[in-house]
Amino acid sequence: ATPLSITVATGKAASNGILIRSAEALETAHKVNTVILDKTGTITNGTPALTDVLPAYGFDSDEVLALTAAAERDSEHPLAAAIVAGAKDRNLEIQRADGFESITGQGVRARVGGRTVLVGNARLLTGAGADVTGLAADVDALAADGKTPMLVAVDGVPAGVIGVADTIKDGSAAAIAGLAARGVDVVMMTGDNRTTAAAIARQVGIARVVAEVMPQHKAAEVRRLQAEGRVVGMVGDGINDAPALAQADVGSAIGTGTDVAIEASDITLISGNLAGLVTAIDLSRATMRNIR
Ligand code: ADP
Ligand code: MG
Repeated sequence: ATPLSITVATGKAASNGILIRSAEALETAHKVNTVILDKTGTITNGTPALTDVLPAYGFDSDEVLALTAAAERDSEHPLAAAIVAGAKDRNLEIQRADGFESITGQGVRARVGGRTVLVGNARLLTGAGADVTGLAADVDALAADGKTPMLVAVDGVPAGVIGVADTIKDGSAAAIAGLAARGVDVVMMTGDNRTTAAAIARQVGIARVVAEVMPQHKAAEVRRLQAEGRVVGMVGDGINDAPALAQADVGSAIGTGTDVAIEASDITLISGNLAGLVTAIDLSRATMRNIR
C-alpha cells in the first residue's frame, strides 16, 4: 500500500479508537482468517462477582467463604477480587493469611489461622492430593451456568465450591457475528473450566473452544493454528496473553488491559470493544484492495 493510504487508514482507525502500531500490522490484517479470543476480560467484562458458596463435608458457608477470602486477599487475580468483595458484602471477618503462594493458571495456597487453605481448579486440588470427586456435581452445575467454579480444600479436605460469574461485553456477540460474516474462523481460548467456557461460547456464537489452557501454553496454541497455514489474529488483555499476542500474525490488546499485553500487540482496541477488530480488518481490506 502507499504511505498515504496507510496514513489515511491509520487515521480513520484512530478516530474509531483503534490504535494501529505499524504499517505492517495494517497490511497483514486483511489476510487474517482465524481469530483467537481470550475469554476473561476480552469477550467478558473481566469483573466477575461472587454468586455461590456451596459448602461440603460439614463446613459452614460463611466459614468456607471467610477462609477463601483470607487466602485470596493477596492475589491480583480478578477471581480473587470477586471473592474478597463477596466476603466483605456478607460482613465476614477476613483473617490475615501467611505463606501466600500463587500458582499461575490454577489458584492459590495460604495458611489461615494455622490451617492450609487451597483455592483453585480441580487440577490444583488433585495435584495436592485432595479427593475432589465429592465436589464434582457442584462444580459441573456452576460451570453449566457459565460460572467459574473454584474448589476449596482446608488441610487437604474438600470444603466446598465457590462460584463466580462474569458478564459478557455488550458488543461481543455482534463482533463475533461480524467476523464470521467476513469468513473469519473464531476460536475462544481460556484457562477457565471447559464447561464454563462452552456455556459462554454458546452465548456469543463461538463454536470452537480451547479451554483449560495453561498460561505458558497459549502461544503454542497460536503456533499450532499457524502450522495449519492459518493467518492468526489474537485478542487478549492479560499478562498471560502477552506471548500469544506477540506470536500471532496480528495481536490486538484490550485498551483497559495490562500494559504488558498492550506492548506485545500490533493493535490496541481503546474502548475494549471487539467491534474495533472488525473495523481494523475492513480498513486493511479496503487499503490493500486500493493498491491492486
Ligand atoms: P483466564 O485464561 O480465564 O485468564 P487463568 O489462566 O488466569 O484464566 O486461570 C485459569 C483457572 O485457574 C481459573 O479459571 C481458576 O479456576 C484458576 N485460578 C486462577 N487464579 C485463581 C485464583 N486466584 N483463585 C482461584 N482460582 C484461580
Ligand atoms: Mg483475560
